[in-house]
Amino acid sequence: MTIHLAQHYGMCFGVRDALRSTHHAAAQEPVTTLGQLVHNPVVDAHLQTLGVQRGDLDHVGSATTRRVVITAHGASDGHRLRWQQAGHQITDTTCPLVTKAHQALASLVEEGYHPVIIGQRTHVEVRGLLGDHPEASVLLSPEDACCIPSHHRLGVISQTTQPLDQVLRVVEAVKKQHPASEVRFMDTVCRPTKQRQTALEDLARQCEFIVVIGGRNSNNTRQLTDKARALGVQAQQVETAADLQPEWFRQVTHVGVTAGTSTLDETVRAVMDRLQSLSAA
Ligand code: SF4
Repeated sequence: MTIHLAQHYGMCFGVRDALRSTHHAAAQEPVTTLGQLVHNPVVDAHLQTLGVQRGDLDHVGSATTRRVVITAHGASDGHRLRWQQAGHQITDTTCPLVTKAHQALASLVEEGYHPVIIGQRTHVEVRGLLGDHPEASVLLSPEDACCIPSHHRLGVISQTTQPLDQVLRVVEAVKKQHPASEVRFMDTVCRPTKQRQTALEDLARQCEFIVVIGGRNSNNTRQLTDKARALGVQAQQVETAADLQPEWFRQVTHVGVTAGTSTLDETVRAVMDRLQSLSAA
């Protein structure tokens, strides 16, 4: 069995920086992250060993420490204000590309567009965007385009970790459903997400089976798994090397490996090592 590693995979700069800032803050004083810092159980377990506590962004009072950490997924200005007014010091690890999405939506609203977000309504990043613009419409699939209220100008952005091809399909559906409206799309899908999606397409051309490494509740990891399957390749998502099942690979000659943007390098290495030993066996 030949093992191929994707050209772009694993942890992005936004997650790396968020982890670095949280480690630094935790070395100075007790800290609480307002939600899951990154959607990865291996990282969670490590943060616990450092004494980092977990609170809830929506519930001021869920943190007993003075210092709180806003996660890489960002938050609304209202959230920031409420935590500050309650006397907390904030370490803000919002990824600059999430901030860019907030700025894009704000500029569209300022120019008189009705705000439209392509993404998952329940995802923490989208909830942050909705906190700033509660009137925004949230769409996940082309079928949702009919739910937007009629408005002469529609300003569309995307959750940073949605696959660009899916996002473009939704934008086209919005244009089709609202032919009288001016539809302006600002592409806020982040570059690491695009690179991992494109690298997956290359991998799918070479392999019959793809292993996707990342947390089960990581949006971009799930999107990689879904895309591999949509490309006609068998795919399994694993959180650690221990999740690999030898029977998956019985008939496989080329296996591909990729990982979501919150996956640690050491987890990828452990999966590669286990695949090498399965191959040798
Ligand atoms: S996935 Fe993209 S938006 Fe999210 S932290 Fe990484 S670089 Fe930033």
